[in-house]
Amino acid sequence: MASSNAVTTVDLSQYDIKKIASGKVREIFEIDEQTLLFVATDRISAYDVILNNGIPSKGALLTQLSAHWFDLISTWLPSLKTHFVSTSLPSNIPSAAQSQLEKRSMQVRRHAIVPLESIVRGYITGSAWSEYKKHGTVHGMPMPAGLQESQRLEKPIWTPSTKAEQGEHDENISRDKAVEIVGEDVAKKVEEASLLIYEKARQYAEERGIIIADTKFEFGLDKASGEIVLVDEVLTPDSSRFWPADKYEIGKGQSSYDKQYLRDWLTNSGLKGKDDVSMPEEVVAETASKYREAFEKITGKSSL
Ligand code: ATP
Ligand code: MG
Repeated sequence: MASSNAVTTVDLSQYDIKKIASGKVREIFEIDEQTLLFVATDRISAYDVILNNGIPSKGALLTQLSAHWFDLISTWLPSLKTHFVSTSLPSNIPSAAQSQLEKRSMQVRRHAIVPLESIVRGYITGSAWSEYKKHGTVHGMPMPAGLQESQRLEKPIWTPSTKAEQGEHDENISRDKAVEIVGEDVAKKVEEASLLIYEKARQYAEERGIIIADTKFEFGLDKASGEIVLVDEVLTPDSSRFWPADKYEIGKGQSSYDKQYLRDWLTNSGLKGKDDVSMPEEVVAETASKYREAFEKITGKSSL
């Protein structure tokens, strides 16, 4: 059974490895003072709820996809530091623990985090579309009149939000508010880097059949140099809206590249937003194939 292969929990408690955080999808462990191990499980969330069972290989596919983007970003913007170290396991991981971590883990350098979600939007959708319909603005910024839902923006825009505590929702903020929180210098660097990466990545993905409608980056600070560092996962379907380019149609909401089948199933079976939901085999299989397809299209690789 495919779903029984999914890794939804990672347990290193019997080893001397400290877990420092657990998100909806990822577990973070401390390797040493400077190094963290990000482990992407196969958990999946939809409408803010984590499903009981997972999507086999999802964690590995997203970790390897992130690693692919980190490589590309380093060639596009050689002066931008990233936290990425490697996708191999640190030497202090006991061999008995390796199978639950392999492929899905990423060693990263630890940094102090810039307390902003650095969101870039290349298309008008979601909360930005709702605001625009009501007020003609996005994050308080005036936008051209007559935009249609899901329309590609002439120039991508930076729309930061706060980083909310667990369980709370991030709050959209203006550029001025972002400057208040992190200072003009950091805000400007984060904005510029985010827009540059997004524009390159959008083009790269579009040539491969995937529209990245918007995405969220996080940045850290390098203590020694004071420079910003790109951290977290990057340009995965968990941190971005991926749309199938061949189905793109302006003037309406778009289907999600990866989660549409799951969302439709949840909605049609009256389970949208409910807790304690297990996906049937067919939903797992369809969803798994979409994650694999996204990975293959973007990386050009046929296996992990
Ligand atoms: P959600 O599941 O909703 O995303 P979350 O953000 O709490 O919840 P994760 O995304 O798994 O869960 O957590 C990753 C955390 O690690 C974030 O708080 C992020 O800011 C932080 N982080 C990312 N990269 C680094 C790094 N290099 N050094 C230190 N912290 C980092
Ligand atoms: Mg997160």
